[in-house]
Amino acid sequence: MRLFWAVLAALAIAIVPGMARAWNVGSGVTPACHERFMGEAYSDSVLDFVPPQFSAPDGEVWRRLSSHLLRTFPIDYEKINAEQRFLLVSLMTGVRAPDTDGHSITNLENLHLLHGDPSPQGQYLHSLRGPDDDYDAGCAAAVAGTRQAILDLVALGQTYVGSDAPIIKVPIFLDFYGRIDIQVHAPAFYMGQAAHALQDTFSHTLRDKHDDYRSIVQVLNYIDAIGSDMQESRDGPAHSNAMDNCDREDMAVLAAYAVLATEELLFAARAQYSGQDPDAVLKVLDKWVTLKPGCNLENDFCNNPEMRELARSNPTRPYLEEIFGCSSARTGGAGTLAILFLLLFTGLRWRWGRRIF
Ligand SMILES: [Zn+2]
Repeated sequence: MRLFWAVLAALAIAIVPGMARAWNVGSGVTPACHERFMGEAYSDSVLDFVPPQFSAPDGEVWRRLSSHLLRTFPIDYEKINAEQRFLLVSLMTGVRAPDTDGHSITNLENLHLLHGDPSPQGQYLHSLRGPDDDYDAGCAAAVAGTRQAILDLVALGQTYVGSDAPIIKVPIFLDFYGRIDIQVHAPAFYMGQAAHALQDTFSHTLRDKHDDYRSIVQVLNYIDAIGSDMQESRDGPAHSNAMDNCDREDMAVLAAYAVLATEELLFAARAQYSGQDPDAVLKVLDKWVTLKPGCNLENDFCNNPEMRELARSNPTRPYLEEIFGCSSARTGGAGTLAILFLLLFTGLRWRWGRRIF
């Protein structure tokens, strides 16, 4: 009956906007944006990507996963060695980790805990405003916090470079297998997490069309949007479910830039880890994660009405509104239906226990 619960929860996620946050994580019903960006970035660079000095470990799990990934992405299996395959698995595990922390995408309770982490640092890992990041100063704080989060993750990865034990075990959730531990290359794993935050700067901020979307003009807000006291002029625009969907035509340019920035981050981190350029990652951040100050609701985010409308086309709303449909005629019915499904079957499960489910 596990499959039944997976399908039910996936259904709920699919029709309750706002429960999933960050570029969509692959679940069978949503496009796997982070994984796709990482796969494309790695596909483009893998043959140039000389692995650091280490030997890929023994073990079946990562090898099977790498075979699966290599079937998904256009990389010639024969042309890359075991270390390069191991790096791909490590990067992919890392880029997925901030949204799942090794749990199933269908584990609603865990998803809520991860996504509703009220600490500013918890939000910066997804390039979002912290709860007290208000007005223009808060927008600047969120950009600075996101930059620092990326630098910290790269630095954490660097502590394993050249160490005796660059390979660590982390939890991962695999469909049909459940939660298992998998070996990863620590520097690549943390690089993957840093890439997640960088990729989220393309879905969780409004960017300036006047400089080809290089500058950020506004940072979105998730933690206040799910609460009851959201004020756009103070808290910034609400997190947008529309912008999390990398399959949308109007997100194609930003999605392509997310891949490019990921590729640049991979090379920069390698240059930094090898001692070639200690500021390599900082340069990538200066290119992609900089704020154009003073852009707010009053000046239409420095004359970017298209970005504003895109974000507003499907904003994250308070959980209670989603459940009872107070103000969202478009989504409230579906949200209510999903919650009723969950309550009904949770009740049935409690009553009948494991004999039935
Ligand atoms: Zn995220």
